[in-house]
Amino acid sequence: MKLLEYEAKGVFSDYGIPIPKGFVIREPEEITAHLQEVGDAVVLKAEVDVGGRGKAGGVLMVDSASAVEKARELFSREIRGVPVREILVEERLEIEHEYYLSIAIDRSSKQPVVLFGDTGGVEIERAAKEEESAIRRALVSPLLREVPAFLMRELLAGAPADIAPVINNLYRIFQEKDAMLAEINPLVTTPAGVYAADAKLIIDDNALARQGIEVNRDLSEREREAERHGFSYVELDGTIGVIGNGAGLTMSTIDLIDYYRGRAANFLDVGGGADQERVMHAVRLVASLPSVKVILVNLLGGITRCDEVARGIITAGVDVPVIVRMAGTNEEQGRRLLAEHGYRMVDSMEAAVRVALEVGE
Ligand code: GDP
Ligand code: MN
Repeated sequence: MKLLEYEAKGVFSDYGIPIPKGFVIREPEEITAHLQEVGDAVVLKAEVDVGGRGKAGGVLMVDSASAVEKARELFSREIRGVPVREILVEERLEIEHEYYLSIAIDRSSKQPVVLFGDTGGVEIERAAKEEESAIRRALVSPLLREVPAFLMRELLAGAPADIAPVINNLYRIFQEKDAMLAEINPLVTTPAGVYAADAKLIIDDNALARQGIEVNRDLSEREREAERHGFSYVELDGTIGVIGNGAGLTMSTIDLIDYYRGRAANFLDVGGGADQERVMHAVRLVASLPSVKVILVNLLGGITRCDEVARGIITAGVDVPVIVRMAGTNEEQGRRLLAEHGYRMVDSMEAAVRVALEVGE
């Protein structure tokens, strides 16, 4: 889960990384009471989870006199389609130079990798492309508590030495917060010292419980519900709801829909041995997707019993048409049940997809 900038900065500050003075507002007028904390030169930062926020107009340099008015304007805007609900108001730093710093996992060596660049800021991608040597990298054994001095020297090259403690503190954050990514871009030097002008922290979803995070905000309500039931679930942008058992069968169902020029609304794998209850929840979940016009259930009965599946579909009792293709254990009973309740049964996967397309497009 990705933390918002001000949340990440809170963590940075706890670990001794200097951050600009600032506060978060939800209404423009809230600025007035706190303004003396940040001084005359102010930065307004839309707290939205959007890449390239600065370039998209989400970071404004203003003075204290116009701060409220500019904040109102920023609240009324969308940054790359995302509405602005919170603004971080900060003292404006007197930036001398912008560096790039990040720590991630290097997948091939399965170790944390520290990246440090002499030219950070909003043009980092272009800078990294054009000057190969501008970004240096160091693999750090996860057994170490900080970056060894010889690697630190290689990373910093000519950069100021007071950046070293920031790198080590970020490395501690990376480890202790179960991060997938910890990034400071830009890490800036000012007459008052080094500061994290921006902050990004992505926590490993598998570690949220250990980190005391109860709700994964990156998931939609439906995705959270799917997680509770243990479904593998991904939302897509088509109109045909898909429920299968096993990732392979579910994916080939989606492939086949694509082959016949249809578009799946989702991927949902109910998993092995799904009972009536699970199937019911799966059908209701997919039916609740506003874009879904038809649901295609494609299940192979092994440990999963077709009569259980049929009962699940029937008890779900959704309004959208449900096309069912199933084969295997207790197929006969399952088919009979569904036929009795007026559900449309189809024999082959191809036929099921074609029927779903007719009904749903
Ligand atoms: P991003 O676009 O979402 O990465 O937003 P950043 O927080 O990184 O801000 C974008 C750019 O705004 C930075 O690269 C800086 O050049 C500039 N900026 C941000 N904060 C300050 C500040 O306090 N003082 C000055 N002078 N520039 C800032
Ligand atoms: Mn940034």
